[in-house]
Amino acid sequence: MNENKISKVKPVLWEKTEKRAVRCNICHNRCIIPEGKVSRCFARKNVSGKMELNTYGLASSVAVDPIEKKPLYHFHPGTKVFSVGGWGCNFRCKHCQNWNISQSLQKEAVHFISPDDFVELAQEYNCKGVCWTYNEPAIWLEYTIDTGKLTKKKGLYTAYITNGFMTTEALDLMSPYLDAFRVDLKSFEDEFYREICGVQSAKGVFETTIHAKDLGMHIEAVTNIIPTKNDSEENLRNLARWIVKNLGEDTPWHVTRFFPCYQLMNLPPTPIKTLHRAEEIGREEGLNFIYMGNVPGKSVTKCPENFKKYNS
Ligand code: SF4
Repeated sequence: MNENKISKVKPVLWEKTEKRAVRCNICHNRCIIPEGKVSRCFARKNVSGKMELNTYGLASSVAVDPIEKKPLYHFHPGTKVFSVGGWGCNFRCKHCQNWNISQSLQKEAVHFISPDDFVELAQEYNCKGVCWTYNEPAIWLEYTIDTGKLTKKKGLYTAYITNGFMTTEALDLMSPYLDAFRVDLKSFEDEFYREICGVQSAKGVFETTIHAKDLGMHIEAVTNIIPTKNDSEENLRNLARWIVKNLGEDTPWHVTRFFPCYQLMNLPPTPIKTLHRAEEIGREEGLNFIYMGNVPGKSVTKCPENFKKYNS
């Protein structure tokens, strides 16, 4: 496949609406895109009343990482993962560390990677799996499906590093080719999602994460704890309780340290004692595996059996 064939790739989960506009049903924004316009996530566009893809195969970032860096601690530990990111995002997170790729599409900086090349590169670098990461993978769903199919045929594992805001119907399309769902559970409160992430509600994230669990995917959750925004005892307890109830007590919960970034430069880094408190709360609520992230000396998986299994 070359770039000229991108326009031939059929977009999924869209419908026509009034006045030659189109609606996208890939994430809970369910955007209506007027004729001639590009979607808020940059990944789709309305050309003459029909949906077309805008970023298929256009990579912003490619790396070979330890799987633990994602972070995924109980999923093929000790292996290398081929990590690819695209452009754009369905969120507008004020603390985004990758805002230069998630909030723009810099046409001069794109690299087209065909699905065949994607898998060949993963194998060439001796990766045991691939992940779509750095920006929200669901927004280029068609590309992750095409690359996921080829990746699974080669016997490699696959993982989404996701904000979880895709619809359940989008996840259904991806699920035959998806093994792990590393999801941000940013807050239990809609207000946080509105003020910090620029979307209406947290509800879709929790619904879709339960769906991922029902589909049998491996799940790990991350909460980046931001001072004064989502660090209340009540919010952290609600999150931990929800994970135990809906995902199970053995679900890893990564509580990570916030550092001032992008539009939240006015806030201080998360105090270490807040992370310790989150860890305590998680234990009190019944979680067995809580990991602190962005804290020196704390990034050690407690899953030694898995480590032996995947490295023998
Ligand atoms: S993926 Fe989400 S943000 Fe992008 S066009 Fe579709 S509904 Fe809108």
